Amino acid sequence: AGHVVLVGASLAALHAAETLRQKGFAGRLTLVGAEPHPPYDRPPLSKRVLAGRLSAENTGLPQSIELDAEWRLGVAAVALDTKGKTVTLADGDVLGFDKLLIATGTRARTWPQPAEAALDGVVTIRTRDDARDLRARLAAGPRRVLVIGAGFVGSETASVCRELGLAVTVVERGAAPLAGALGGPAGTAAGRLHRHHGVDLRTSTSVLALEGDSAGRVCRARLSDGDVLEVDVVVAALGAIRNVEWLDGSGLAVDHRGVRCDAFCRAIHDDGRIDDDVLVAGDVACWPHPLFGDEPLAVEHWDNAVRQARVAATTMLHGPVLAHTALPTFWSNQFGVNIKVVGVPSRADQVAVVQGSVRDACFVATYGRAGRLIGALAVNTPRAVDSYAAMINDRAGFPLALNAADAPDPIRI
Ligand code: FAD
Repeated sequence: AGHVVLVGASLAALHAAETLRQKGFAGRLTLVGAEPHPPYDRPPLSKRVLAGRLSAENTGLPQSIELDAEWRLGVAAVALDTKGKTVTLADGDVLGFDKLLIATGTRARTWPQPAEAALDGVVTIRTRDDARDLRARLAAGPRRVLVIGAGFVGSETASVCRELGLAVTVVERGAAPLAGALGGPAGTAAGRLHRHHGVDLRTSTSVLALEGDSAGRVCRARLSDGDVLEVDVVVAALGAIRNVEWLDGSGLAVDHRGVRCDAFCRAIHDDGRIDDDVLVAGDVACWPHPLFGDEPLAVEHWDNAVRQARVAATTMLHGPVLAHTALPTFWSNQFGVNIKVVGVPSRADQVAVVQGSVRDACFVATYGRAGRLIGALAVNTPRAVDSYAAMINDRAGFPLALNAADAPDPIRI
């Protein structure tokens, strides 16, 4: 038996806890979460919750088994001692553990100018409370919403704004929406979708400054294209930062990509030593995926958090018997379009559209690197990705033989 402590009480921690109980673990389980809420689902936050079709309170993750766990919610872990095997909490409590799961995920990157970020109406969206707050602001009918950053969360937010009939400007430093993650044709298609749905999309543009009125509410944004926009709500959708500061001094190998672990989710120390008692899973983990070479992978997707958590729980109980080799997969819904991704398109050097048409926002694109297929994107044809996933797993070459038939040649990205 023994005591398992899971730090982070969200998707990964919940699935690890469930797996432990399902596999017969009868010892003590403690989940420590900085947020006051029991585990909830984040993907609906930037979709149905913002649109007002689901209340933020109803995003709780279903629990498939009686966990019989101790919940320490609303209190963060502040230190880890891997030798003494203890975790210190912000309220001063010290928890001893036999096995520990690090599942502290990420937080939203805030607007970098603190005084501007503190203006009323400048928000981020990562938590249930963030989503409830932004939903209330959107429901109040602002004159204009400014979304900074056209990644997935920014694009979904803009999509909801248009669904609500709100005027929205999206400012993106890169050449196209989603360009960092998907590049090339996907960015072209995404840009077209934004504009078709009435988003004022400014690419290759930056927000230089945000200004407030005398009451401290945001009212204006200065852009690098010279424009000055009147705005009431600013959503900073600037990506995520891994929650690793509490591990300072723990001796674990940690950097901006997260906590290093092996394919069995065992944490790696600075000196390269593998820790059998400290496991890592979810958005905070960074590990070598056998399909994607030496450069460790850090994946911020729902499916990965669930699968990696199950592997971590298995390692806790049985040692390194099950490796985490699942292909990353991801979905998004925006502007009425379904996007599904497998593999790691962000690491590709070439892309080829192999089915459908980018113009009609219904296509499949494949991604290659160094002559190998490493990713696929299906827009409005979600089932198509499964066969490409199998080919990525089989280490198929790139471009695929079928590309030659009627598809354009691969382009460099
Ligand atoms: P998280 O969910 O980030 O949870 C980590 C938890 O740990 C947090 O509650 C945090 O407060 C807590 N914590 C942090 N530090 C400490 C500490 N020191 N002590 C105690 N607790 C701590 N993925 C998809 O695949 N498809 C989507 O469409 C999609 N949409 C998304 C939309 C939004 C708005 C967001 C924010 C995410 C979306 N994701 C999506 C990503 C997905 O939600 C994440 O991959 C998933 O939540 C990761 O789970 P996790 O348990 O690893 O981390």
